[in-house]
Amino acid sequence: MLRNVVIIGSGCAGNTAAIYSARANLKPLVISGHEAGGQLSLTTLVENFPGFPDGINGPDLVENMKKQAQNFGAEYLHGAVIDTDLSTRPFRLKVEDEWIETRTVIIASGASARWLGLPNEQKLIGHGVSSCATCDGFFYREKKIMVIGGGDSAMEEANFLTRFGRQVTLVHRREEFRASKIMLDRARHNPKIKFLTNTVVEDIYDVGHHLVTGVRLRNTRSGETWDEEVDGFFVAIGHIPNTAIFNGQISTDPDGYILSQGGARTNIPGVFHAGDVQDRVYRQAISASGAGCMAAIEAERYLEAEGD
Ligand code: NAP
Repeated sequence: MLRNVVIIGSGCAGNTAAIYSARANLKPLVISGHEAGGQLSLTTLVENFPGFPDGINGPDLVENMKKQAQNFGAEYLHGAVIDTDLSTRPFRLKVEDEWIETRTVIIASGASARWLGLPNEQKLIGHGVSSCATCDGFFYREKKIMVIGGGDSAMEEANFLTRFGRQVTLVHRREEFRASKIMLDRARHNPKIKFLTNTVVEDIYDVGHHLVTGVRLRNTRSGETWDEEVDGFFVAIGHIPNTAIFNGQISTDPDGYILSQGGARTNIPGVFHAGDVQDRVYRQAISASGAGCMAAIEAERYLEAEGD
């Protein structure tokens, strides 16, 4: 079956593209991806998405978008795209063992958590190391928690985690913070959050026990190193765009973000981008939704021009 539009990713960008292309009668197929619902599904209260004066929970917001798209006929497929062939038309996308053929593609595959790259970090994921406070905070009631990062994500996670932990230590590699003033102030005024600046993590213990028990820290100015006991270790240092599956077929910048050719266009006619996979500047739910709308409109016009 040849599809009109396949949307890769089911975050704000993908779901909004699905709403628009479904309403244009294009019967889009959305491939949910490894992290169905995208980053919103890993967050708590969203206070800045227009239309919700009291805020709305991220997972509810994204689920509402999905239902809205399904009401207009969008189909959702669980699974992730593992290979692509965008060199000829129709485009081909491999999900599990099946190749899907489509006339247009909207890439809304977002960005995934960045890790510190410490030797023991990956081995302890799920055993005390996490990139998602909303998912895992509950497990650290009355425990000692550490959050790494100096951006809005780190502030948000640290604040959220004070609901559970008896203390949250926020470790940042510099003195200055990338976080917005309001988020930083909120964290600074939270009595449960202790700030450690100019500090980096050198190692995480204890792989032998399959459990996080502590970390080795280093002050970047004095060079001093010391150990601290920690039960929960949350990494909140940004994201990496999910473009590896395109094997160099889509033009990206050196960090892997898709290079836009204007509007929602990529270097391949008929393949469009939407959301964080291209946007390293705004990266908001509302801007991702706006980008999803743009991509769907462009895909619709592209198909129309081809003689739909
Ligand atoms: P970010 O703004 O890129 O900040 C990443 C932070 O991690 C920076 O402080 C960076 O340090 C640090 N970092 C990066 N690599 C590191 C490493 N290897 N070791 C130690 N530290 C490292 O990412 P983000 O906080 O995820 O935010 C992304 C976007 O989402 C931003 O636009 C943000 O405003 C938005 N956001 C908004 C909200 C909200 O409004 N509710 C919540 C979360 C995120 P340096 O500063 O030294 O580079």
